[in-house]
Amino acid sequence: MIAPAEPLQNGQNGTSHEAQRAPRNPYAPVDDFLSNVNRFKIIESTLREGEQFANAFFDTETKIKIARALDDFGVDYIELTSPAASEQSRLDCEKICSLGLRAKILTHVRCHMDDARMACAIPGLSGLDIVIGTSSQLQQHSHGKDMDYIRRSAVEVIEYVKSQGLEVRFSSEDSFRSNLVDLLTIYSQVDKIGVNRVGIADTVGCASPRQVYDLVRTLRGVVSCDIECHFHDDTGCATANAFCALEAGATHVDTSVLGIGERNGITPLGGLMARMIVADRDYVKSKYRLEKLKDIENLVASAVEINVPFNNPITGFCAFTHKAGIHAKAILNNPSTYEILNPSDFGLSRYVHFASRLTGWNAIKSRCEQLGLHMTDAEYKQCTAKVKALADIRRLTLDDTDAIIRNFHKSIGSNDDVPLVDGLTEGEKRTLEADMPAEATSIV
Ligand SMILES: [Zn+2]
Repeated sequence: MIAPAEPLQNGQNGTSHEAQRAPRNPYAPVDDFLSNVNRFKIIESTLREGEQFANAFFDTETKIKIARALDDFGVDYIELTSPAASEQSRLDCEKICSLGLRAKILTHVRCHMDDARMACAIPGLSGLDIVIGTSSQLQQHSHGKDMDYIRRSAVEVIEYVKSQGLEVRFSSEDSFRSNLVDLLTIYSQVDKIGVNRVGIADTVGCASPRQVYDLVRTLRGVVSCDIECHFHDDTGCATANAFCALEAGATHVDTSVLGIGERNGITPLGGLMARMIVADRDYVKSKYRLEKLKDIENLVASAVEINVPFNNPITGFCAFTHKAGIHAKAILNNPSTYEILNPSDFGLSRYVHFASRLTGWNAIKSRCEQLGLHMTDAEYKQCTAKVKALADIRRLTLDDTDAIIRNFHKSIGSNDDVPLVDGLTEGEKRTLEADMPAEATSIV
């Protein structure tokens, strides 16, 4: 058995000098001057990217509810659909800008003077997110403009937005399939004329975390402005890519609630919170009201008529459910053994699942304590064996398992034949009545 490591002290196992020279753990994280994992900002795009989700239709009232909920949660920015998209979009943009929210309100517009003028006319708007396709596919098949045209219009629009006293971000679209020299040239140019942020967008969801790290780190060396990132989840990397972007020096991450957006969407707000609280709990807890996450996700899920996925980080129905006997035993002793996230940080509770063949006597004992039933350890083990025996032949509900526990408890010291659970077949009864071998009852 290995004893727990004790810190070295003067006069104990050596001198303090020796302690200072103790070899450094080679697996410890290195100091990283590029990383912004402890000072990032969120640009929440449920009301822009999320409107592109196949099921989304947000009326004005729903948009207001979502905007207020996001503001209450503490996101830094709320991004809205372009006012040029439709007349109602323009009216909704005006309405949300008039709510007096703490979060800054942005709208996402094409790199075009007509769109920029329309957006800048909205009172209370904080800034514009300007986007244009830079990949060869988009230059060829979408807008049909070359890089010279893109550069000229970017400069014109950025200078106009700045002249109106608003923030401006310039983003390429499909950045990871754009020519690197073209990208760096245009970002450097817009940085020089005072753009607030440049944006990298993985519009098709093709980038891997390593590609993201390399591109953002390279860009960090070229521009002095902030760097915003936008990742689609087509290949399942949206949250990992956002984290890598922050490690490489990005400052802002685009999210949407539950990740809703075009196709299968972007970095989800909740998934990002799960990732970032592991990186810097104090920062995340001080900035965001995490206990509001579940309500916001339910609000958006019902607005777009979907369920919160079972495997959703933090709020999926089983995100804090522990089932295997060995896990349950350790969780009951110390939750951090099998939990990297603490459910109470999100106003949630953990649940130890005991109604299955994988249960152990520590979980059954804990359930007995919740039910106010006390037994000896040997009896807990016998009772557990009964639960496991029945769970081997059919699915157990919570009520079934509680009935077995209560009836087993009732049968202790009595000669009466107390049925452990109602509605059993003869075969099930025989299985349950059989004496369990002692070894089977000792499994945790
Ligand atoms: Zn997008």
